[in-house]
Formats: sequence, C-alpha cells, structure tokens
Amino acid sequence: MKVVIVGTGYVGLVTGACLAEVGTEVVCADVDAAKIARLQNGILPIYEPGLQEIVMRNQQGARLSFTTDLAAALPKAEVVFIAVGTPPGEDGSADLKYVLQVASQIGQLMDHYLVVVTKSTVPVGTAARVNRAIKESLVARRLILDYDVASNPEFLKEGAAVNDFLKPDRIVVGVNTMRARQTLEQLYRPFLLNGHPILFMDIASAEMTKYAANAMLATRISYMNDIANLCGLAGADINQVRKGIGSDPRIGKHFLYPGIGYGGSCFPKDVKALIQTGREYGYQLRILDAVEAVNEDQKRLLFQKVLRHFDGDIRDKKFAVWGLSFKPNTDDMREAPSLVLINSLLSAGAIVSVYDPVAMEEALNYLGSNVTFADNMYSAAEDAAAVLLVTEWNTFRMPDWARLQGLMQSPLLFDGRNIYDDVQLVKQGFTYYGIGNAAAT
Ligand code: NAD
Repeated sequence: MKVVIVGTGYVGLVTGACLAEVGTEVVCADVDAAKIARLQNGILPIYEPGLQEIVMRNQQGARLSFTTDLAAALPKAEVVFIAVGTPPGEDGSADLKYVLQVASQIGQLMDHYLVVVTKSTVPVGTAARVNRAIKESLVARRLILDYDVASNPEFLKEGAAVNDFLKPDRIVVGVNTMRARQTLEQLYRPFLLNGHPILFMDIASAEMTKYAANAMLATRISYMNDIANLCGLAGADINQVRKGIGSDPRIGKHFLYPGIGYGGSCFPKDVKALIQTGREYGYQLRILDAVEAVNEDQKRLLFQKVLRHFDGDIRDKKFAVWGLSFKPNTDDMREAPSLVLINSLLSAGAIVSVYDPVAMEEALNYLGSNVTFADNMYSAAEDAAAVLLVTEWNTFRMPDWARLQGLMQSPLLFDGRNIYDDVQLVKQGFTYYGIGNAAAT
C-alpha cells in the first residue's frame, strides 16, 4: 500500500517513518523546503528518541521518501494523511487554514480514489469542511471522482512517539463508508496482528475523542496542582497523597504528578479549542475553564516562591534553570512553562543561566541573548543564588550535591517537579522548596 503524509512535523514524520517501518510505501510531503532538503540528507528536524534509526533504515530501504511536490507524490497513493499544524486562533479555536489548504490542494491534484484522513487534531465537524474543500476543487476542475474522508487522530506522546505509534493503546478511526474502513483496516493490519485494537467509530466521535482525551489529561494535571497547593498550605505532603489516591484502580497512578503547569504544543491549545467548540454550541465547559485558570497560576508558582524567599528583590541575582523543554526527551519548546518562569525572572532584573540536554538550540529561538546558555548543569549553577529544576530530564536526577554546593553562592533549590528528596537535601545544608508539601511553601 502507498500512503502520502502531508506535513512532516512531530506527527507527520513519526507517522510516516513508523508506517514505513511496518512495510508501507510512504511519501512525506511538506511545504518547508529546507526541512525536506535536510530530511533527504538524513537530518531530522526534531529530537525524538529512536526516530533517526527508523528514518534512516526506511529511507535506505526505499520505503520512505521526502518531497515538496505533492503532485508527484499522489499517483498510486491509496491514503493521504493530513498532518499539518492546527495552531490556536485569536479566540482559542483551532486554526484550520493549513488543513483546509491541503484539502483543497488534494482536490486540485487527485486523479483516482483516495481516502483523505485528518491526523491533525481538529474540532468536531472538520471532516465535513475537508470534504467540502476537496469537492469544491474537483468541481472547479469539472471532475467527478470518488473519495472518502476519515478521521484518525494521533495519540503519540512527544519523547515516546515512536514507541507510542508502533505499540498504540488504541487506534481511533472515524469513517462513514465501508470502503474507507476496509482501506484503513488494511493499512493498520500489522498493528492489529500485534494485538493493538482499532476502534472504528463515526467521524464526529473520532474527532471529539482526541480533544476529550487531552482535556481529561490536562484536567488531571490541574486537579493535582490544585490539591498540591492546598497540601502545602495545610501541612500535608502531595507525594504521599498521590500514592494514597493512585492505589485506587478507579483513579490509577499515572499522570498524577504535580508540577509547574502543563505546556507543549497540545494540551494548552486543545483545551482552549474544546472550550471554544463548547461556546460555538452554546455550552460552557466549566471544568475546562477552571483547568486553564489553575494552569495559568501554576506556571507562575515557582517564580512566586523565589520572590517570597528573597523578599521580593532578585535584581542582579543569578538563577540557574535546569531544563527548558516542556517535558523530558523532547526539544519542543512550544508553550514551555520554563519560558514563563525565565521571562518573569528577567523582568524582575535577575540574571538567568540555563541548561537543557537537548532543547538549547530550539530555546535560542525563544530566549535569544537574554539568558546565558551554559555548557552543562554545573556551569549553569556557578555563583547562582538558586537552582530551579524545571524539566525532569534524567540527567538532573542525581546531581553531585557537594560539587553543586561548592559552586553556588548559596545552597538553595526550587524543585518544580518534586524529583528530589527534601529531607536528604536539607540534611546536606540546602534550603529546599518543592510543590505541595510543608517544605514547599
Ligand atoms: P508541526 O508544527 O511539528 O508540523 C506541521 C508541519 O506541517 C510543518 O512541517 C509544516 O511545514 C507543515 N505544513 C504546514 N502547512 C502545510 C501545507 N500546506 N502543506 C504541507 N505541509 C504543511 O506540528 P505537529 O506537532 O506535528 O502537529 C501536527 C498536528 O498533530 C496538530 O494538529 C497537532 O495538534 C496534532 N498532534 C500533535 C502531537 C504532538 O505531540 N506534537 C500529538 C498528537 C497530535
């Protein structure tokens, strides 16, 4: 089977590489000529564990290729995935202009039956708009061609995307014809054989499933952050509370970690977009309004703890920020909470030195020359008034505390992810602030 993927970002590239890995012929198309040129030379535009090897192997095996020429990619394809960005518009709704541009383009170029699948995260009702865009292009060409639209939202997690794609918990597919269903069943057959289920449903439900999933996960984060903040005030310890509630299988132990708020390219924009979809239908998603509000406050929490510790004056003090990407194992800086923290520190007149094992190059686009990019976690901390742990990369988990203490102006640590042992650190002479325990306030 031949498949074309339009949009070669985190989702498109992983989808293309992984489908090629299970034997599909894949062409990845993108309008970004520089990105495609680099990919043709085996250089990946993103950091994603395990992806480089799969891309190389399948490029060499001639199952995976990259192009800017969608017209040349489409002949003989049976399925086209739309995997372009759906950034937030001014009112928070998903901006569908890239998705609809691609749909129109497909209508302008197709010459045989295709299943056109939205893999981008799109609001309920988008498939109908994709259908209309394709139809209008065909009408303009005075052509009658058979095609189907389908929805196949992607649930991969950045940082574990290859594994998530190759071993999915479920594959959600929304279809409204048997032909589309059979085509996609055939495409995903290698996954089915390995026991990974496909959930076929109607298109609107598939579109809604993606938002409902992300909004539920964001809700867990904001809920835990809210409870953590109360724990800090009331003398309870969120780490113990987390274990206590997570042992109940109805709650489950995953995704219960408090921190400094969710970020990234998905949760913030998808929560906003779902709220906006609610508005369009005259329905207020009150829970999600609160999820957002808690998250906005939480992103400022570490900064407020810093200010409080220094009685409001951090002018000319140096702070080391460990971790920049919105979560470990990715270089993605979109909506990273680190940016809110760093900008607050800078606005208050502080000096900021940062270190991240992977995201420094990407972070340069966001932070420019306003901060010092250190060579390693220790040089970032030289003469620092405090270290602020922001992203829980493995490399930060077991620092040489004595070395750190010797380097810093004062042994002070703000742990935005609760990864350190507060008791041990205090014994070692550190002043420690975490999230949601007595030591945190
Ligand atoms: P991205 O910004 O990394 O990539 C989008 C790509 O589309 C870019 O390379 C861009 O050049 C390309 N593009 C834009 N317009 C185009 C056009 N007309 N023709 C061809 N290419 C075009 O985005 P992403 O993170 O891969 O996200 C894509 C979609 O998948 C979004 O809707 C997102 O919400 C969803 N999603 C993302 C993730 C994730 O973890 N990143 C997970 C699940 C779903």
